[in-house]
Amino acid sequence: MYENQPDTKNGTVVVVGGSAAGLMTAAKVAAGGRDVRLLDAKGGFDPAPRSLIVTHHFREQLRDVAASSIVNEIRRFELFTDGRSASVALTRPDLIIERARLIPALAQEATKAGAKLSFDTRFLGLAPNSRGLRLELESGGKRQELHADHVVGADGATTRVGRSAGWPPVETVPLVQAIVKLPKDCPRDTTRVWFVPDDTPYFYWLIPENDSRGALGIIGEGSGQETKKRIERFLEKKQMEPLEWQGARIPVYRKWIRVERRVGNGKVFLVGDAAAQVKVSTVGGIVTGFRGAQGVADALLGVGGRSELRTLHRELATHWLIRKTLHHFEQKHYSYLVDLLDRATRESLGEIHRDHATRLLWTVLRRQPRLILLGLRGLLMGAWPR
Ligand SMILES: Cc1cc2nc3c(=O)[nH]c(=O)nc-3n(C[C@H](O)[C@H](O)[C@H](O)COP(=O)(O)OP(=O)(O)OC[C@H]3O[C@@H](n4cnc5c(N)ncnc54)[C@H](O)[C@@H]3O)c2cc1C
Repeated sequence: MYENQPDTKNGTVVVVGGSAAGLMTAAKVAAGGRDVRLLDAKGGFDPAPRSLIVTHHFREQLRDVAASSIVNEIRRFELFTDGRSASVALTRPDLIIERARLIPALAQEATKAGAKLSFDTRFLGLAPNSRGLRLELESGGKRQELHADHVVGADGATTRVGRSAGWPPVETVPLVQAIVKLPKDCPRDTTRVWFVPDDTPYFYWLIPENDSRGALGIIGEGSGQETKKRIERFLEKKQMEPLEWQGARIPVYRKWIRVERRVGNGKVFLVGDAAAQVKVSTVGGIVTGFRGAQGVADALLGVGGRSELRTLHRELATHWLIRKTLHHFEQKHYSYLVDLLDRATRESLGEIHRDHATRLLWTVLRRQPRLILLGLRGLLMGAWPR
């Protein structure tokens, strides 16, 4: 499953994509002494502001670089469904980070480590040549060619690198978020989650950015337009006004995507959204994309024995199992689940760690015969309903 041969051969590494996963890969591989060039189609590393929620692992992964992008901490989750609610306190807070601060900080790290970054440079395709790989690029309106020994595709869910190297396309779902005024009764350290199975097999969330603003979002299925209509109706029901909209299609993880492929004498790797390294139960891709970046950097530097990729594989598979189970839940099952969580947290688990929240959910599912049946049905059916 994971190639066992460490890749110790030196040579140029080209990273395509200068967002979270690509910049992290470039910084790590350059710090390990390889010659790294990173390309991005955008005009500069100046992304539009967007608040993202991540687990505390983010701090361990980024150390000093993390501090500048953290804007808020989440200490409590409130879960709602059909008039019921449960509240879960976190022992280690989740972090709200600002992408417009994270990306420039990562770009600075990559540059400091010796990676050369180029903007306005679009990857068009690759082919093997006698020395390794020949990349076709477009930069400033002109066609260019570049030689590389190794290429890392960090170019997101629609990865052109992946397609050029023969990976099948990644399946995606629409995510739509509205920035809203934070309701007066919602403290800035509390994330709200609503299960509304008639609207989505996932959930709605409200993540406070600060005292006055929050991001209310939904993950849907099918078209982005239909998903946007749903969130508009939900906002109306909750009497919230959208101040601005954000949205994109994000990958859904269904099975492990092997991150490495030989093409002629060269090798191609995928990281982040390009390899669907997204937790499918919550659709978070930052921390898992960083894990993927670390795994590919280890492979390129011949260190680490692929342990980071194994950990990532396990984490993604657990989230997939939970998602497969929840995907078949009807309203009555969510009502039951929220009641159980409420009782469980009131009785014995006043505080839990969010990474353990998935374990708690799983434990609750396993312990309840009716939920086990539902879980089994989900697992046996294998695929999601469309
Ligand atoms: C609205 C929204 C909210 C989200 N909220 C959260 C959250 O709260 N928590 C969380 O963990 N995750 C969240 N995610 C998911 C998270 O943002 C992604 O998983 C993460 O950004 C993926 O990073 P990446 O580097 O793999 O890819 P991307 O961020 O997609 O970056 C790909 C890069 O490749 C470049 N590129 C693409 N094609 C080419 C080409 N041909 N040539 C050169 N460059 C190219 C692009 O310009 C881009 O810079 C959210 C996503 C969305 C859309």
